[in-house]
Amino acid sequence: MCRHAPTSDYAPFCSRRCANLDLQKWLTGSYVLPVNEDDEAKIDGEEDES
Ligand SMILES: [Zn+2]
Repeated sequence: MCRHAPTSDYAPFCSRRCANLDLQKWLTGSYVLPVNEDDEAKIDGEEDES
């Protein structure tokens, strides 16, 4: 959020632009999922005890 004073029209944002920016940030952030494919790939090569 910016440090401008929020306006009642776009509360809690100061303007429509800031509201959109915050929404975009929120949306893109939710699309980023933590992926750990490395762990499974490692096990493949080292568990060979036959
Ligand atoms: Zn703002």
